[in-house]
Amino acid sequence: MKTIPFVDLKAGYQPLKEEILHAIHEVLENMHLYLGENVHALEREYAEYIGAKFAIGVGSGTDALFISLIAAGIRPGDEVITSPHTFFATAEAIVHTGARPVFADITPEDFAIAPERIKQAITPKTRAIIPVHMYGQSAPMKEILALAKQHGLIVVEDACQAHGATLSGKKCGSLGDAGCFSFYYTKNLGAYGEGGIITTDDPEIAEKARIIRNHGHTAKYDHATFGYNSRLDEMQAAILRIRLKHLDAYNTARRSRAALYTSLLKDSGVLTPSELPERSHMYHLYVIRCQQRDALQSYLQEKGIGTGIHYRNSVHLQSACSSLGYVSGSMPIAENICNEILSLPMYPELQDQDIEYVANAVRSFYAQ
Ligand SMILES: *Cc1c(COP(=O)(O)O)cnc(C)c1O
Repeated sequence: MKTIPFVDLKAGYQPLKEEILHAIHEVLENMHLYLGENVHALEREYAEYIGAKFAIGVGSGTDALFISLIAAGIRPGDEVITSPHTFFATAEAIVHTGARPVFADITPEDFAIAPERIKQAITPKTRAIIPVHMYGQSAPMKEILALAKQHGLIVVEDACQAHGATLSGKKCGSLGDAGCFSFYYTKNLGAYGEGGIITTDDPEIAEKARIIRNHGHTAKYDHATFGYNSRLDEMQAAILRIRLKHLDAYNTARRSRAALYTSLLKDSGVLTPSELPERSHMYHLYVIRCQQRDALQSYLQEKGIGTGIHYRNSVHLQSACSSLGYVSGSMPIAENICNEILSLPMYPELQDQDIEYVANAVRSFYAQ
C-alpha cells in the first residue's frame, strides 16, 4: 500500500547530507562547542533574513518566548494576553515568568487571536500580548500593534511556526517588540536537535536576552543577574546555517504544495485554509476544517496517509490551566475549531501525485 507520512525529515536531509556532515565534522575538529563562530554567524544571518537588528540564539522556541518576556520586563503579578489556540508552550512561557496567562478567543479565518477579544481582556495588570502566527500565517498584527500602542503594552510574537511569513512585505518576527522562533525538527527551519532564536530591534531586550540565556553572565566570572542555561549549540547552528540558505525555496515549495491541495479539494466538502490579504502564508501546516474529523482521520490512516491535529484541546481547558478558572464554553470559537481541524501531510518534498492521492481519499470519504 502507498504510504504518505505526515512529515518526511529524511527527504529534507538527503540533498544536503554532504554539506551537513562536513559542517558537523568542522565543529568537531575545532571543538569550539560553546557560543562560537556558527552561533554568532547564524545570529547575524537570521537577523538579516528577518529584517531585525538583533538575533539571539537560545535553547528552544519555548525558551525564546520565556527569555523575551523576562528581558522585556514581565514579572510575577503581570497579565499576558495570548491565544487559547496554540501549542501549550506559549502559555508555559508566560507561567514560568510568574505572570498570568489571559486567553482571548480567535478568529476562524486565520486561527489567530482576535483584536476585539484582546480589547475585552485588557485590565490594569496587562503588560504584554503574545500573538501566535498559527500554521505559518501572520496574526492581524496591524490591529494588535495599534491596541498595544494605545495601552502601552509589549508585543512578543510567537513566530515558532512562521519562519519567512510576511505581513505587508515585512517578516513575522520583525513586527513586535520581539519575535520568537523554534528550530524544532519539523518547523519550516528545523535543526537536528533543539534550538530557538529571538529577533528584536530593541538593544535593551537583545542585551538582556544575551545575558539571561547564559547564566546572567556579563564579563568573565561576573554574573549580573540570575539567568538560565539556554544556549543554542554550535552543532545545531552549523546545520541551521546550511538549511537557512534553502528556507525561501522550502517555503516556496510549501506554498505550491498548499495551492495544489486547495485546488484539488475545491468543493470536496472540507474548508481549505484562507490566505488573508497582505499576509503570505508559509504553510508550516496545511490545516483543513471538516465534518466527522476523527472518522476522516482514521479513514486516511487506513489509506496510509499520516495526519495530525494541531491541537486537539484548547490551552485554556488543559488540566494544567484549571487553577486559571476558565470553563468550557468560555472561548467558543477556539473550542469548536478543535473538533474540526485536521493537518494534512505537508513538507517541501511532497510530490504532486501524493497530494492527488490525499485529495482523492478525502473526496472518497465524503462520497461514501
Ligand atoms: C513549536 C512551538 C513552540 C515551542 O517551540 P520548541 O522549540 O518546541 O520549544 C511554541 N509555540 C508554538 C506556536 C510552536 O509551534
